[in-house]
Amino acid sequence: HGGKNILKKVVEASKSKNCKEQLVCATAVRNHFWYASKECGGDERKMKAIWFGILHHVVNEHEWLLNVDGTYGGCAHEPLYVENQCKPWLEKGSPAHLAHRNIVEDKRLLKNLGQYTNFRHTGFLESFHSHMLMYAPKRH
Ligand SMILES: [Zn+2]
Repeated sequence: HGGKNILKKVVEASKSKNCKEQLVCATAVRNHFWYASKECGGDERKMKAIWFGILHHVVNEHEWLLNVDGTYGGCAHEPLYVENQCKPWLEKGSPAHLAHRNIVEDKRLLKNLGQYTNFRHTGFLESFHSHMLMYAPKRH
């Protein structure tokens, strides 16, 4: 639900003036939230550090001085090659980047960040139910 809300906010923000570029990275932002939740290992500070990394990544900045938890600042992905890059980068300080920053640094989200550190989701249950339906359809 956290990821879904973030996606909704990014899509909503992309509708405002000069923020259309944001829409291209909307699902990537949601996926990054999932990634941060999964990789933090229950540590809220680490999750915040990973989550904030997207602010650098979207402006084509993949290394920075320090994370908010005091660790080395950098993306976890492999080096990017220009020819594989299909999404445009946001311009640092542009309206789209500022709108993006407001979503990432949303006070309410950061206050509740601790609730996402256990990476609990219903994906496995949904998968189980869809598997059950293969062998025991509801109409039989
Ligand atoms: Zn990056």
